[in-house]
Amino acid sequence: MRYVSTRGGVEPVGFAEAVMMGLGTDGGLLVPESIPQIGPLTLADWARLRFQDLAVEVLIPYVGSELTRGELEDLVNHSFASFSHPEVTPLVRVGRHQVLELFHGPTAAFKDVALQLLGNLFAHFLARDGGRLNILGATSGDTGSAAIAGVRGKPRIHIFILYPHGRVSPIQERQMTTVLDANVHNLAIRGTFDDGQRIVKALFNDLAFKDAHHLGAVNSINWARILAQTIYYFYAWGRLSGGDPERRVSFSVPTGNFGDIFAGYLAKRMGLPVDRLIIATNRNDILTRFVHTGVYAAGEVHPTLSPSMDIQIASNFERYLYYLHGERPEAVGELLAEMGRSGQMRVGAEQHAIVAGDFDAAAASDEETLEQIRATYRETGYILDPHTAVGVHGAGECDDMVCLATAHPAKFNEAVRAAIGIEAPPPPALRGLMERETRSVLLDASEEAVREHLRATLAAAGE
Ligand SMILES: *Cc1c(COP(=O)(O)O)cnc(C)c1O
Repeated sequence: MRYVSTRGGVEPVGFAEAVMMGLGTDGGLLVPESIPQIGPLTLADWARLRFQDLAVEVLIPYVGSELTRGELEDLVNHSFASFSHPEVTPLVRVGRHQVLELFHGPTAAFKDVALQLLGNLFAHFLARDGGRLNILGATSGDTGSAAIAGVRGKPRIHIFILYPHGRVSPIQERQMTTVLDANVHNLAIRGTFDDGQRIVKALFNDLAFKDAHHLGAVNSINWARILAQTIYYFYAWGRLSGGDPERRVSFSVPTGNFGDIFAGYLAKRMGLPVDRLIIATNRNDILTRFVHTGVYAAGEVHPTLSPSMDIQIASNFERYLYYLHGERPEAVGELLAEMGRSGQMRVGAEQHAIVAGDFDAAAASDEETLEQIRATYRETGYILDPHTAVGVHGAGECDDMVCLATAHPAKFNEAVRAAIGIEAPPPPALRGLMERETRSVLLDASEEAVREHLRATLAAAGE
């Protein structure tokens, strides 16, 4: 399998190069040259597999000859051994819905599913091909810890995560700073999340510095992250259908950067019998408005109770635009140019009809999110985290809809307490955090301070 860019400016590359590249060198997103098709007999077979074996089958056609089956099995088994549930992503009946629990990984949120695998892929390809990777990223709280957990202790990799000093929750800070591996560098900056992002962007734009220090990112546009998230759509379908290819399953997906929902779309394009795919957003509803109107218009970012979905621009959306327009980079280019000129883009009537067939969409306000946590708890005793609650709200009255649970409720206990007056007990990943030793450095929110710190740290590590 080879990969090309949604903007048409990357010569086809293999899986390893696509994973190491992350963002396309032309600024586009990498996509496979063709989407593998899975037939009904194969699906029926897959329905019997445990999560790890299913993962290998889903990944093989995308990996091509770049990993042997044995290597892929080792990578997959190692990646999901860090999950505390034997099923990795169990499906739990909650009232009329099915909740797909994606939060049994080391940081208790669904990003672990992708980042545990991505970390091992990075380490494998670096060991095979030589080279180093120094990951640089800014976090407002959540993604940082999952990225750190994905690469901690791995040879040839360092990770530097900037977070706003005093502005992330104590639990989120501890999830990062209690990781003491020598390759993990937590940088608290005297500034905001936006300052952190600005600094990271500036350092990536300094191409000489970026190349000299092998800087890379782990943001949600890496193709391997999408692939990893595709696995649990197949898994949930298998659990519910027992392998009956006539049985179509619907999913409600709390969405920010369009990553998780795009993985569901990809599963459907591969042949998974998916009925409805619901894009569930909070008050930051750019995607819901797009599904309803065909217009994609950036607004202001409003802080909500589901902060991991507080986005203005959905970074994976470009992949969907590409497929919506028959895999034509020219059409993507025109829309992006329109977006650049006017701050919005409108797809044609024909495309909008396709969008309406591909997705449903629903937005939940903070009040509706709290009300959903309350109602589900009252009716079933199950505690939803606020992100998951947005998805359950989107599922409405539909029976047997699979609602993706993207975070453990104990990560967002303030919202949980506001809704039901009690807190969710912490899962193993969150226990004892406040008692552990921590390590981080405090820096000014300036490009120079961070640049100097990176340089000195990597020099001291002999790299
Ligand atoms: C990142 C995240 C989301 C949104 O996922 P996308 O792939 O950006 O759509 C939802 N819930 C939680 C808890 C998250 O961390």
